[in-house]
Amino acid sequence: MKTIGIIGGGQLGRMLAMAAARLNFRTVVLEPQPDCPAAQVANDQIVAAYDDPRGLDELARLADLITYEFENVPVSAAEQLARSRPVFPPPKALEVAQDRLVEKRFINGCGIATAGFHPVDSQADLEAALAEFGGAGVLKTRRLGYDGKGQRVFRSAADDPAGAYVALGQVPLILESFVPFDREISVIAARAPDGTTACFDPAENVHRNGILHTSTVPPSVGGSTTEAARKAATTILDALGYVGVIGVEFFVLADGGVVANEIAPRVHNSGHWTEAACVVSQFEQHIRAIAGLPLGDPSRHSDCVMQNLVGDDIARVPDLLAERNVLLHLYGKAEARSGRKMGHFTRLL
Ligand code: AMP
Repeated sequence: MKTIGIIGGGQLGRMLAMAAARLNFRTVVLEPQPDCPAAQVANDQIVAAYDDPRGLDELARLADLITYEFENVPVSAAEQLARSRPVFPPPKALEVAQDRLVEKRFINGCGIATAGFHPVDSQADLEAALAEFGGAGVLKTRRLGYDGKGQRVFRSAADDPAGAYVALGQVPLILESFVPFDREISVIAARAPDGTTACFDPAENVHRNGILHTSTVPPSVGGSTTEAARKAATTILDALGYVGVIGVEFFVLADGGVVANEIAPRVHNSGHWTEAACVVSQFEQHIRAIAGLPLGDPSRHSDCVMQNLVGDDIARVPDLLAERNVLLHLYGKAEARSGRKMGHFTRLL
């Protein structure tokens, strides 16, 4: 039986390990936190930092191939592993996804629209960039931002940028033009080693407090928007020589046009609905792709809404269990801290 190494021990790793087990793979998780959500269902855990060379050597010894469940895996760690084991998705995808400036340039290089952007490395850069965008824009850290953290929105020239560079930590930043979007959608797509691709239907995503709240499928967008989003996702997969599942987030404009926001080189929260509404979930699709098995059919058999259970939402579990057509998925986290994703459910419509 082959063993898949997973870097990262959160809920995405947990769901990957469960999908791997169904296809007769063993899993070993590299994660510093003992008894993490993924390790609870994996065969083995290496308790070590993601960049600990000894932990990485141990992972390469125990696993036949390696994947990861979050995009901030140190590129050097992925490259160390890639010297002795296949690592999918390719480390290049990490390089692109870890830095918003590199990511935007890469996406534009694929002929896909993004928000306008300027690198910001000082308060003076910020003020010059804001002036170019008429005073509106979204200032983000280039690295390590997630769930809306490390961001500041400027809605108009009336928003005073004084002190913003210092407030975001004097780290490399990017100012994006403000995209007046109608809605947000994402595409979860997969690419196999032979270049075959498969896209799940786009989901329409609603965020609350910077965290994904719901994903609804199908989205209320036209066919040409869906097609443009799928085509963009496939172009990105091909350009990266990608293997595995990717999440690509888009803004949808009033005229139906799509603007790419970001890529996640991994299974994605906005694809959790696939476990309830498709025969092959995004998690199984990822395992199939990285293991060189045929990709599954991405078509959905039901319309649905996925909702995250964040913090105290966990108290809804008894009621949700009493509902018909609801698939509940909990992550094995002991403590329901505010803002922490505890689980999700998908309601078939
Ligand atoms: P991100 O961390 O890039 O996914 O951004 C978090 C959320 O902020 C997005 O889902 C949007 O709702 C909003 N947002 C981010 N960038 C922009 C932008 N350039 N224009 C308008 N809204 C944005």
